[in-house]
Amino acid sequence: MAHNASSFTPKTRLRGVVFDMDGTLTVPVIDFGAMYNAVLGEKEYRRVKAESPSGIDILHHIENWSPDKQQKAYEIILDYERQGLERLQIMPGAAELCGLLDSKKIRRGLITRNVKEAVDLFHVRFGMSFFPALSREFRPYKPDPAPLLHICSTWNVQPSEVMMVGDSLKDDVACGKQAGAFTCLLDEKGRYGSSDFAKSDLQPDFKVASLSEVYSLLEEKFDLMP
Ligand SMILES: [Mg+2]
Repeated sequence: MAHNASSFTPKTRLRGVVFDMDGTLTVPVIDFGAMYNAVLGEKEYRRVKAESPSGIDILHHIENWSPDKQQKAYEIILDYERQGLERLQIMPGAAELCGLLDSKKIRRGLITRNVKEAVDLFHVRFGMSFFPALSREFRPYKPDPAPLLHICSTWNVQPSEVMMVGDSLKDDVACGKQAGAFTCLLDEKGRYGSSDFAKSDLQPDFKVASLSEVYSLLEEKFDLMP
């Protein structure tokens, strides 16, 4: 069989994969638009939406509110998240992808802006666990690179040997890039176009439409070695 030079190019070693939870390992069931509307009120929601084309950071938005107002906002958010939990579904391809990682002994971590209760329920439903799994009780949360750097140091692995996979450009890709990891944007519905990447200055290393594409990507482009 003939080989060309490129078939001998060594692949990049990948030692761990860190996943976002909502919309990445689970099917999105939270109506974020309705949630923001309920938290901010219709008028404020419209204003904030217009000035945040890449998405609203609701937690950041309410951080400086008075304790009373903030408490109410958190209750509304929790209520939407609880409703989402009741309908929680595992993303197609998640089990196969994790099976591949397990077969190669590649570490699996999780970072979410959701609460620990949601991560616990996800672990029970999914039947496979992620470690470390950092929820929003870990501060600062995404898009800050701190949670990803924390996972890398727990694993004793360089960020450049890790991939961050998530469905949010402004949270997951931003977190991964700032930490110095590979980034993979899961864009199932074609939400993101080239103008989003240009505007936000956040170009993911890879963009896929499904977790099975992540599976192929990892097999083809990386040397999966713990
Ligand atoms: Mg997400």
